[in-house]
Amino acid sequence: MARYKDEQCRRCRREGQKLFLKGSRCYTDKCSIARRNYAPGQHGQKRAKLSEYGTQLREKQKMKAYYGVGERQFRKYFEMASNKKGVTGENLLQILESRLDNVVYRLGFGSSRAQARQFVNHGQFEVNGNKVDIPSYLVKIGDVITVRENKKENGALKINIEENSARIVPAWLEKDNEKLSGKVIRLSAREDIELPIEEHLIVELYSK
Ligand code: SF4
Repeated sequence: MARYKDEQCRRCRREGQKLFLKGSRCYTDKCSIARRNYAPGQHGQKRAKLSEYGTQLREKQKMKAYYGVGERQFRKYFEMASNKKGVTGENLLQILESRLDNVVYRLGFGSSRAQARQFVNHGQFEVNGNKVDIPSYLVKIGDVITVRENKKENGALKINIEENSARIVPAWLEKDNEKLSGKVIRLSAREDIELPIEEHLIVELYSK
């Protein structure tokens, strides 16, 4: 079966909002949401009113797409979030934000989370001096994430380093443009995350 080339954009169109899955293209007028803001498929232009379950489900799918996480892993994160003190939905977001691929993206080393994940997979980063090539690695307070010395000249990574040196990083991270590194100074809080999502709907979905 032919693979649909615009799969990422279809996910945004399905949710009816930008999920910023394609890096710099998302900020241009080539963005599919800017051009065709209706759901994909033959009946996409007729958005049906969603049931309560449908609304909760869409919210979960949106969060999974945003962080690039599959169902099984997402469920595991939810269980971790439920077992932590505090508000489960906010805990869930904090865990997702702590993934190494997300941190690499937040630091501006990846133009999208998908690209950041690829960089991590290819062993381009170290944490506290040790190579880590697991995108789901969860960072902790005090961790230092650095571009590995022999990867600094990598084409796509080098472009991001140059283009994003002035990009504002979230308050829970501290970036060092000289050392090409970032430090986790605290874990993310809900107000740090601009994601337009109602995480309580996901908690309600899993609580059924
Ligand atoms: Fe595609 Fe990015 Fe626009 Fe989403 S935000 S539709 S991924 S270009």
